[in-house]
This record gives sequence, C-alpha cells and structure tokens, in this order.
Amino acid sequence: MRIIAIANQKGGVGKTTTTINLGAALAEQGKRVLLVDLDPQGNTSTGLGIPADARKNTSYDLLLGDSAPDPIAVGLGAGQLWLIPANTDLASADIELHAHEKRSFLLHDALRHMGPDAGDFDYILIDCPPSLNLLTVNAMVAAHAVLVPLQAEFYALEGLSQLMMTIREVRTKANPGLRIEGVVLTMADMRNRLSQQVEADVRQTLGDLVFQSVIPRNVRISEAPSYAQTILDYDPLSKGSQAYRALALEVLARHEGTR
Ligand code: ADP
Ligand code: MG
Repeated sequence: MRIIAIANQKGGVGKTTTTINLGAALAEQGKRVLLVDLDPQGNTSTGLGIPADARKNTSYDLLLGDSAPDPIAVGLGAGQLWLIPANTDLASADIELHAHEKRSFLLHDALRHMGPDAGDFDYILIDCPPSLNLLTVNAMVAAHAVLVPLQAEFYALEGLSQLMMTIREVRTKANPGLRIEGVVLTMADMRNRLSQQVEADVRQTLGDLVFQSVIPRNVRISEAPSYAQTILDYDPLSKGSQAYRALALEVLARHEGTR
C-alpha cells in the first residue's frame, strides 16, 4: 500500500483534478485506489457526484471521529476506485486538531487502523486543501510521498520553496521517510511559448523530480466533474485521459523500481 499526498498551498493548480484522474487511471491499471478528500471545500466529493447530504461518513470522522468511515465506491469501473468524502465539518477540524495531543498524527493513525478493508488498497491519494495547515501536515505525516501539481504559468515556481520547507519540517519532526513523488505540470498549453518556457525552467530547476508526462489544458477535463465523472469515464480518448494514463504509468514505474 502506498499513500500519496497531493499538495500545493496554491489554489486552482490542479490538485483535485489530479487526485480524481490519477486515481481513476491507477484504478484502470487494476489497482485498488482510495481517494481521501481532505479539503473542506469537498471538490473531490462533488466532482465524483456525492451530494453533500449523502456525505454521512467523512474525512472529518476519519480524523476526529470514533470509528473509521466506510469508503464509497465511485467511478464507472466501480470496485477499483473508492472515496472518503469531505463536508464542511472539516473546516473546523484545523482548530480542533490544534487542541489535540496527537494533532499531526491523527490521519496517519486512522489510515493504518481502518478496519479489515483498508489493507486491500494499493494506493491512497489524499487531496489536500490549498494551505499548509494542520490538515496538509496530517496528510504529509500519513503519506509515503508528496505529489505536487504545478500550474504551467509564469509564477509556477513561486511558493514552491515554502512547500519544500514544510516537507523538510515534516521529515525532521514526524516522517523521516517522506519522499517527493514528483512534480507534475498541469494546464499546459504546448502551442503557447510561455507554457514551453515555463516547462523548460521548471525542468531545469527541479530536474528528475518533474514527471515526463505533462497534463495539457483540456476543456474535457474541466467538464467532467459537472457530469460527476472522471475524465477516463467522461471522454476516455481525450488528450486529458491520455495524459493522466501516462502519469499513472510513470507513478507505477517509479514504485516498481524501474526508476
Ligand atoms: P485545486 O484543487 O488545486 O484548487 P482544481 O483541480 O480544482 O485545482 O483545478 C482548478 C480549476 O481548473 C478547476 O475548475 C478545474 O476543472 C480546472 N482544471 C484543472 N486541470 C485542468 C486541465 N488540465 N485542463 C483544463 N482545466 C483544468
Ligand atoms: Mg482542490
């Protein structure tokens, strides 16, 4: 089982989109995948068609409740892709966590004591909020690795040093084995010179950390959540589907030691 936190404190860079669609692409490869929505906005849950009133057992309960929630089967290839949704309860969790003795370790402990089904997951992807708050720290403490979506725009690298500092701090204090899974460029427009320049800069700065796969800006990707579908279900042959499939293969290859 491998736990990956999808994190970047900037909003709108593709965290939620990557959580859903990388998850779907790993599931398509036959992996059993659990998505944990750790953003109080609950976009992963909404994007997969779980209405707010159907979110009885949520990531809030996972962190602060008495018993672990049962994951919900999502996606067309149901049976492979599961979700622990979020609702607005999570908005107060950050404050409640501060009062808790094990404040940074609650998600770590919960995911490792999730009941008989938990051990069956090959991958757990955690969609983090756009902040370096205690929720994100919980995700990093729980995870084996952090995957960072980076929007291919002029200010792409700005804010990254802060994120890296947080990762270093989590390593020092709580999770020495935490790795950086990789950085994935999102919403790239390859016909655009600025996008090409940003990609070149990011690769020069971060080298091997950057996935070869680049997620293009693709309108089908942004439409899929309004149909409560992953891009692989909504438009399996789209450029967006192909890109997330390629990313999933890279993630798998990194873990199968072929890196
Ligand atoms: P975050 O979770 O980091 O805030 P999202 O994944 O919600 O970011 O993406 C922000 C917005 O950009 C959403 O409206 C989403 O549909 C859109 N989006 C994300 N990735 C793409 C893409 N590759 N092509 C087009 N639109 C995208
Ligand atoms: Mg999001």
